[in-house]
Amino acid sequence: MNVLVINAGSSSLKYQLFNMETETILAKGLCERIGIDGHLKHKPSLAGKKVFDEAVSLPTHAEAISAVIDKLTSADYGVIECLSEIKAVGHRAVHGGRRFFGSALINDEVVAILEDCIRLAPLHIPANLMGIRACQIAMPGVPQVAVFDTAFHHTIPEHAYIYPIPYKYYEENDIRRYGFHGSSHRYVSAIAIQHLDKTNDTKVITCHLGNGSSLAAVKNGKSIDTTMGVTPLEGVPMGTRCGSVDPSMVDIIADIENISIKETMDILNKKSGVLGIYGESSDFRDIEIAAGYDMNTGFDDKSATPNKRAKLALEVFNYQVAKFIGSYIVALGGLDALVFTAGIGENSPYVRRAICDLLKGIGIKIDEHTNAVRAGDFLDITAEGSIAKVFVIPTDEELVIARDTMEIIHK
Ligand code: ADP
Repeated sequence: MNVLVINAGSSSLKYQLFNMETETILAKGLCERIGIDGHLKHKPSLAGKKVFDEAVSLPTHAEAISAVIDKLTSADYGVIECLSEIKAVGHRAVHGGRRFFGSALINDEVVAILEDCIRLAPLHIPANLMGIRACQIAMPGVPQVAVFDTAFHHTIPEHAYIYPIPYKYYEENDIRRYGFHGSSHRYVSAIAIQHLDKTNDTKVITCHLGNGSSLAAVKNGKSIDTTMGVTPLEGVPMGTRCGSVDPSMVDIIADIENISIKETMDILNKKSGVLGIYGESSDFRDIEIAAGYDMNTGFDDKSATPNKRAKLALEVFNYQVAKFIGSYIVALGGLDALVFTAGIGENSPYVRRAICDLLKGIGIKIDEHTNAVRAGDFLDITAEGSIAKVFVIPTDEELVIARDTMEIIHK
């Protein structure tokens, strides 16, 4: 049984086709520059099938889905004979608001609720809806499932999700902490728990560190707090997002630049974070090299001349992540495992070492040689005497979406 997983952005659409008997990927790819000109990268996993990487006209998401189906079923690039071999489609849906506590079979009511959530995620939900509509048209009758980034965090208690602002904004406008990257936090925390020598009273902190970054405190497999808020802007500093800052600065920057609040928010979303401090790039690989770190070991590259602001950008990031980890140890009442995942968490020995250095005072210790291993798989980097395990766990949000899709259509 094959499940197609779709992650639609405003001008991009990522996809993976899974064989769910074996949980293996048959093909994956990316449509880019939708609505601009269009490009499709398609990578089949079957021997003898060709990779496609060319410009394709993609005026809307509908043409993008058609192009994907065309490649999945073609003689040269395809992995299935015909469209009917796709039994269901799972969509990554960024925001489920207060209505969705788990994944949902998409029907008119679910679409209407998603439309209502646009006010909470105006950049993301319209793109999700375009992906859903395009699939409904291209594959009528094939069940479509929405898997929400926010759902895993629905177990966060009231005292952690209510903001200290007038209560009516929660009651009347749904303003509360929602949290994101739920599929990732759910997936890696479950694997971490399997590697603990206990099954009860488990306390795990998951650090999803990528272009967007968030942490979650997970008690007995359930999220009890997370760093992102009503939107993905809150929490730790990110590639281009500021994370938690004094909200008064919105007013101050708007005054300095003589711009609107919307334009100021654009600065905090797209020009801040490590990019804002370093000024040259938001990519951690560029910043680590500029700061004079050896990408393989995570230690100083003695031959490099470090750029001060690149170094500072990394220090600000590491410090904020470590500070949240400390606060989540309080929220959990202890710690069994600290997990690093996503682009930076999985691949940067420097960031893991620097964050764990800041946690030495509370007894978290990693083995620096194991930390420099690039396993691409589960890695235990705990050093002897550490108060908690430290794991590197590759995330797989698409597999979570495919598994949830299977579960929902078999209900
Ligand atoms: P997204 O949030 O877009 O899914 P990813 O999880 O793919 O992002 O993470 C992207 C980030 O991971 C980028 O900042 C990139 O520089 C960083 N990254 C990838 N590989 C490495 C590496 N070897 N060392 C340091 N950072 C890395």
